[in-house]
Amino acid sequence: MSKVIIIGCGGVGTVCAHKCAQHPEVFSEIVIASRTLSKCQALVDTIGKPNVSADQVDADDIEQLVALFERHRPELVINLALPYQDLTIMEACLRCGVNYLDTANYEPRDEAHFEYSWQWAYRERFEQAGLTAILGCGFDPGVTSIYTAHAAKHHFKEIHYLDIVDCNAGNHGKAFATNFNPEINIREITQKGLYWQDGKWIETEPLEIHQPLTYPNIGPRESYLMHHEEIESLVINYPTIKRARFWMTFGEQYLRYLDVIQNIGMSRIDEVEYDAPLADGSGNARVKIVPLQFLKAVLPNPQDLGENYTGQTSIGCRISGIGKDGQPLTYYIYNNCDHHKAFEETGMQAVSYTTGVPAMTGAMMFLKGLWRKPGVHNVEEFDPDPFLDEVARAGLPWHEMFNIDLEL
Ligand code: NDP
Repeated sequence: MSKVIIIGCGGVGTVCAHKCAQHPEVFSEIVIASRTLSKCQALVDTIGKPNVSADQVDADDIEQLVALFERHRPELVINLALPYQDLTIMEACLRCGVNYLDTANYEPRDEAHFEYSWQWAYRERFEQAGLTAILGCGFDPGVTSIYTAHAAKHHFKEIHYLDIVDCNAGNHGKAFATNFNPEINIREITQKGLYWQDGKWIETEPLEIHQPLTYPNIGPRESYLMHHEEIESLVINYPTIKRARFWMTFGEQYLRYLDVIQNIGMSRIDEVEYDAPLADGSGNARVKIVPLQFLKAVLPNPQDLGENYTGQTSIGCRISGIGKDGQPLTYYIYNNCDHHKAFEETGMQAVSYTTGVPAMTGAMMFLKGLWRKPGVHNVEEFDPDPFLDEVARAGLPWHEMFNIDLEL
């Protein structure tokens, strides 16, 4: 019986809150807190359970976070705001003795760059405080890292090649939309690619390397090599890995739009000045905007895509190496998630669903005492077995294939 605060009430926060509320025996009290109180209150009303309540916080402000934690005294905070808030929330956790879980690693606002170093720097302080911080507990990072841990625990003596493959074969009927926060999503996709080979990082131009890959129940889809944060910790935690890469599918139309957005400067994250008309009509004022943040304001809200979204996502790990029996082994572990079914259950599409369900499951692992380890840890450092049992029950069943052609 434990109290949690969920920070962030977007697509992922909504799914996670619904899922936590389905388990009052574990999540005795749930507070949903975000910048906009009305959104949190609307979600509380939709869930309609007496143990779920709303509050307001600007998570960029440590003092506000401390006040929130002191008001509610939670055991765990589930951080489903944006990656910019990771460090302020971790600081506040240390000040108030609260444990921590997130789904995305810290990014500074002024630089489209993500790596774990900023959060790993908190290891000693969390350890000394006897607090657990669980990093990257969505789907990717998250379930993909736990799939890798499962492969290492049950099937492989040595993992040599790891390819994480992420396909969204859904159709939302919009000309262009992102499946989660547009600002975070476009920053991620327009970065240079990066993969690990023979002990070093190799950089590529954005989306330079691509090939078709065949996804279960979906078929072949063009897949693009990108940098993704889970690779960074996996190659450290599984040092036998010779090469680790991450692939994501994009449709031709999506890439065409993305190209235009970049070419006309709308993906810029620095401030530009423009003349905005004054409210009283008396002229213009010079104001500053960040083009990508403005673009977010005019693009479809990812939370509104769910209703007409059809098709499935398919995310998994393709792994090869030496099996437990000393023989060469190829292995594919994956989940397919249906956009429409996810929407029927939570009002959100599969990309939010596949992130919110693992966040709830990781929180449950912590509260049940199965994933309790003072310090700052990536998810593959915990026992994958109870997590994978629970995540399948919670709506994300997984499947395995052995000794198949991995295409990679
Ligand atoms: P949304 O943009 O839909 O929601 C973000 C939420 O955070 C909103 O409720 C927003 O409030 C709130 N928020 C933003 N800034 C602050 C702040 N300063 N203080 C308090 N609340 C704030 O994003 P998503 O739900 O799509 O994504 C949530 C997180 O999940 C992101 O970090 C994303 O990177 C991560 N993610 C991880 C994935 C994985 O597989 N690991 C996959 C997909 C997403 P408001 O509504 O007022 O703006």
